[in-house]
Amino acid sequence: MTVEEKLAVDKFHVDEEFAHIDVDKEGDAAIIARLVKLCPAGLYVINEDGELTFDYAGCLECGTCLVAAGGTVVKSWNYPRGGMGVEFRLG
Ligand code: SF4
Repeated sequence: MTVEEKLAVDKFHVDEEFAHIDVDKEGDAAIIARLVKLCPAGLYVINEDGELTFDYAGCLECGTCLVAAGGTVVKSWNYPRGGMGVEFRLG
């Protein structure tokens, strides 16, 4: 089973009214490149114009980006509001 297949099994309750992660898309390019590599859900993407795109829908709430950004790029990080966010489906 591939990582993509495993992620597809999870269910996401997206809170359209509250972005639980906010990022500075104009932030440090080296940090952004790090986040592109490290986010296990692949939510940090450099588009064809070389700009960062980020969508909190699909977040696994692992906290990797918060730690890896070292206080930059990730402007705010919270868990989603109650009842929202990822629902892991194992087995
Ligand atoms: S918390 Fe984890 S899954 Fe969510 S955006 Fe950050 S690195 Fe990606």
